[in-house]
Amino acid sequence: MKVQVRRIGNDGMDCNESFPVDLIGLTQKDILTFISPFEISAKIIRGDDEVLAKITAKSRYDATCGRCLEATTQDWSTEFTLTFDAKKYSEFIEMDEDIRQELILNLPAHILCRIDCKGLCVDCGVNLNTQECKHKHAVPSGTGN
Ligand SMILES: [Zn+2]
Ligand SMILES: [Zn+2]
Repeated sequence: MKVQVRRIGNDGMDCNESFPVDLIGLTQKDILTFISPFEISAKIIRGDDEVLAKITAKSRYDATCGRCLEATTQDWSTEFTLTFDAKKYSEFIEMDEDIRQELILNLPAHILCRIDCKGLCVDCGVNLNTQECKHKHAVPSGTGN
């Protein structure tokens, strides 16, 4: 995403760009695989000393749930703001490398198929989202009697 600084108006400038998945060169392919390009939307604002880029990135990934180990596909989005020194960047700002680094920093660390995934029974290994077993888990401690 390359921005021509003098084209940033008083109301800022909107930029949209699609980044290929291999831009971020994931090393943790076993944890997640992005399956659609990163859709990058940027709102760029010029101040006296700096240029701000408020960025939203969206994509979709395939992964394995960290609790139940089932395959899952999740929508993903992240937001961050980049700041550039207006003196240093008086003509063009090339943001690709900064965006790439922020995407990597904002990757999901814990992947769940759903927020309330019950996971696997530690005793018999059944998927507690789809099956019940005779083992008791998550018993509330201290019932007060
Ligand atoms: Zn799960
Ligand atoms: Zn069990």
